[in-house]
Amino acid sequence: VDRLTDKTALVTGSSRGIGRATAIRLAREGALVAVHWTADRQAAEDTVALIEKEGGRAFAVRAELGVPGDVHTLFLGLERGLEERTGEARLNILVNNAAVTPTGSAPEDLTPEEFDRYFAVNAKAPYFLTQRAAALMPDGGRIVNVSSAVTRTAAPDQLAYAMTKGAIEQLTLHLALILAPRGITVNSVAPGITDNGGAIFANPDAVAAMSQLSAFKRVGGAGDVADVITFLTTDEARWITGAFIDATGGTLLT
Ligand code: NDP
Repeated sequence: VDRLTDKTALVTGSSRGIGRATAIRLAREGALVAVHWTADRQAAEDTVALIEKEGGRAFAVRAELGVPGDVHTLFLGLERGLEERTGEARLNILVNNAAVTPTGSAPEDLTPEEFDRYFAVNAKAPYFLTQRAAALMPDGGRIVNVSSAVTRTAAPDQLAYAMTKGAIEQLTLHLALILAPRGITVNSVAPGITDNGGAIFANPDAVAAMSQLSAFKRVGGAGDVADVITFLTTDEARWITGAFIDATGGTLLT
């Protein structure tokens, strides 16, 4: 613990799931964490409360991503929260985690509107969030983009979603070189099937089937992925940049 003392962090989509687990771990390491959410205020407040109960520091920021003005709204709240607590709008760590996850139409039925929504939330928002965040980020900052195993293995039902995750991996690759002169690292973390508290993870048959995909024969926990993200934000990970980090529990081995 205490590897992130005096650091500040924004984790998008940290009201629940992998984002929440990441926010909790970053706070445990000493970071002041902005818990971003859009629909579920209670979940965001619960995340902040969980952090504060452990003696950590966090505040909630609401902004819907994928709509005009999204990044501006998020940064108004973020900068105000940071200034109130630290006297300045300095951001050391950005975790681009929020995403529209694949629950919609099969590829042959996907509408242009659904396609645009995937790209607006999962690719365009992280691009412009990162552009804005980089301006507030001192030397030695950290950017982690949450991708998915579906960029390395065909998942026909998730085609458009997978395309957006391919896009965020390109953001990682190119931005890593652009920001390297400032000592800022940019990496992608790819989860496999991860229990985010969603309804399907309460169905034992579904969980048993999903477990077979991992080499360890279980589904991932949000903490399994969050620990990897957290490591990448520490000084210990300073020599890793532009990387694709497989956090799938060996899902891609076969
Ligand atoms: P969840 O669905 O559990 O949580 C999504 C989070 O993102 C919530 O905090 C939600 O906020 C926020 N969010 C979603 N859409 C928007 C939006 N339009 N604007 C603002 N916030 C939004 O996510 P997971 O933990 O499952 O996934 C986290 C990341 O991991 C995603 O990038 C996902 O693609 C990736 N991933 C997940 C896998 C899994 O099996 N779980 C597998 C591979 C990758 P709110 O609660 O307020 O709606």
